[in-house]
Amino acid sequence: MTLALSLLDAGIDDVDIYESASAVKELGVGINVLPHAVRELTELGLLEALYRIGIPTAEVVFYSKHGQRIWGEPRGLAAGYRWPQISIHCGELLGVLYRAVVARLGSTRVHTGHHLVGFGQQGSGPVWGEFVDRATGMSFGRVEADLLVACEGIHSLVRHTLYPDEGPPSGTASRCGVRSRLVSRSSPAARPAHERHDTVPAGPLRGRKGSDA
Ligand SMILES: Cc1cc2nc3c(=O)[nH]c(=O)nc-3n(C[C@H](O)[C@H](O)[C@H](O)COP(=O)(O)OP(=O)(O)OC[C@H]3O[C@@H](n4cnc5c(N)ncnc54)[C@H](O)[C@@H]3O)c2cc1C
Repeated sequence: MTLALSLLDAGIDDVDIYESASAVKELGVGINVLPHAVRELTELGLLEALYRIGIPTAEVVFYSKHGQRIWGEPRGLAAGYRWPQISIHCGELLGVLYRAVVARLGSTRVHTGHHLVGFGQQGSGPVWGEFVDRATGMSFGRVEADLLVACEGIHSLVRHTLYPDEGPPSGTASRCGVRSRLVSRSSPAARPAHERHDTVPAGPLRGRKGSDA
């Protein structure tokens, strides 16, 4: 979604997004959007929308398993950056991006239920991507374009095809909790070996209860 918005911002408006999931749903946990990323989203005119659903993080704090504060340091504006660090619910961030894409590009350019199963290029001609609907098994055939940009996450088919020897992800476990902005503007974390536990203040609750994921 962010790439599509950036391309539009650069004057490239013939853009289509193909997403494996059958719908864009606001799912996920609390995350921290760091200042360099907030800078990009600010350039795309989204800072106000982020402030409406997230909070500017003031500090990161580490605790022992007994709850003793070990260490903390300022983050974002409090650390002197020109852009804030924003703690936000990941699904709500996606919602902001999706609504901006729909408003600027149009909903018909977002093709949900399209799972990439192959890609290639014939000579110096256009690239192609082949898509199926994973829910029904229906094939959409090939789509041609001047450029294919793979943004399909950690299990990327394109990356694995182009870089088959990279090996699996690290295997480090990550546990996250979400809590209300009413608690504080700090972002506590505990980190035993090979495991990480972050608790991120993710904005107003709006009926959502704090949860682990
Ligand atoms: C628990 C947790 C906490 C995190 N906290 C933070 C944080 O605080 N701050 C931070 O900056 N980062 C955080 N991250 C990392 C961050 O979520 C990832 O770096 C980021 O989501 C990667 O974005 P992406 O667009 O590359 O991939 P993804 O977000 O994984 O998006 C990939 C998309 O591609 C789709 N897709 C997958 N395969 C296909 C296919 N074959 N065809 C079509 N579509 C496909 C998927 O459905 C998905 O929508 C966290 C991650 C986790 C798991």
